[in-house]
Amino acid sequence: SDELNASNLNQVSEFMPLCMQNLMYGLKKHNHLKYNGRQQLGRFIKELGLPLNEALLFWKNSLKGLNFEKDYAYNIKHTYGAVGGRIKYRGMNCTNIMNQPKPHSSEYHGCFYKENSIDDIFAKLKMMQMTDEQINQITDSVREGKYQIACTMVLESKCGGKTMPIVTHPNFYFEEAYKYSK
Ligand code: SF4
Repeated sequence: SDELNASNLNQVSEFMPLCMQNLMYGLKKHNHLKYNGRQQLGRFIKELGLPLNEALLFWKNSLKGLNFEKDYAYNIKHTYGAVGGRIKYRGMNCTNIMNQPKPHSSEYHGCFYKENSIDDIFAKLKMMQMTDEQINQITDSVREGKYQIACTMVLESKCGGKTMPIVTHPNFYFEEAYKYSK
């Protein structure tokens, strides 16, 4: 399989679920992400198979704050189990992601479908060239609080309409969307 590294991660972001695309967007826009966002995205890209040295490079290039080594590097190494308690953290699943503290206005973590307005979700799906019929089905699920069903419908459309099991993990979404594109 193709190796992911610090420089090609942006190119595969279209295969990420919208929670992770949103974090990539926030990171690019501000050259910064707050703690919960760094955790959510960091654990996701670790589980994608990005090695520690590439992860350090990705974050160093993305976070334009001073003192990368002091402020962030330890945290990233910790996620990889390279320092501290040496626990290797797995990517958060959808339940973990939804159970985080609610994002403030300058934060980008959480489930995209849970934390955004119907209007914002509509606009994003429209940008992804989805039909009004598809968008209506997805936003109906969001209104009913069925966020993972909404996410699954988006994955299915990325996979040419193929029926998919319910998305319970962002890394599952990525693997399927990426595989379909090959
Ligand atoms: Fe992310 Fe899961 Fe929400 Fe999809 S359902 S946007 S993968 S948290």
